[in-house]
Amino acid sequence: MPFDLKPERDLGEDLNVGLIHAPLTALGPGVRVGIWLTGCSRGCPGCLSPDFFKPQKKERQNPLKVAATVLATAKDLNLTALTISGGEPFSQPKALKEFLTSVRANGLDDVLVYSGYLVEELLVKWPWLPKLTTAIVDGPYLQNEPSTEIFRGSKNQKLTVFDPAFAGPYAAWAKEKKHKAQFLVGQGQIRILGIPKPGDYEKAYAAAAKTLKKSP
Ligand code: SF4
Repeated sequence: MPFDLKPERDLGEDLNVGLIHAPLTALGPGVRVGIWLTGCSRGCPGCLSPDFFKPQKKERQNPLKVAATVLATAKDLNLTALTISGGEPFSQPKALKEFLTSVRANGLDDVLVYSGYLVEELLVKWPWLPKLTTAIVDGPYLQNEPSTEIFRGSKNQKLTVFDPAFAGPYAAWAKEKKHKAQFLVGQGQIRILGIPKPGDYEKAYAAAAKTLKKSP
């Protein structure tokens, strides 16, 4: 086995994986692997990922299997950074912890997580968070408080960097002016990765829909 992973064990909880994509340049500093975990009951109006609210049975995977896939993807592209979004990643906290422990132990040293919880709530419920992640963007999306900043959809959301070694890159990324949404187009679907500027979503979606119409 190319990575130092423990044998898979039954935690009574799997990760619900909606998507793994790399290279990801639209969500976090630099170039990263992205993983979107399904399951979220908040239903924030205007959420960009409503299809990730309800986990599908076929998405359930042992967290160590997911770690192996993510690590192989990172290795192929020579990446050491990961962004975890969703859905709500903490809707499967045991499996998430197992996954994070494994990817951190195998060289992914920069892990950014997006969560609808407040960081204060997360630290009480899951105190291992600062040890296993680098940074978090917290809070639900509030449609009536739109943000133009690259790292968040609404102004209530905060970026907290746990690892001081990464404070510089995260501060620089948070100040970037150019939004970098990526599109995945195919199989009759359009998915936007990243956070478009307020008002740009509809334009971007229409452009992507045009591309989809043209594609075979
Ligand atoms: S918490 Fe996040 S994933 Fe859940 S509905 Fe709100 S914006 Fe969407």
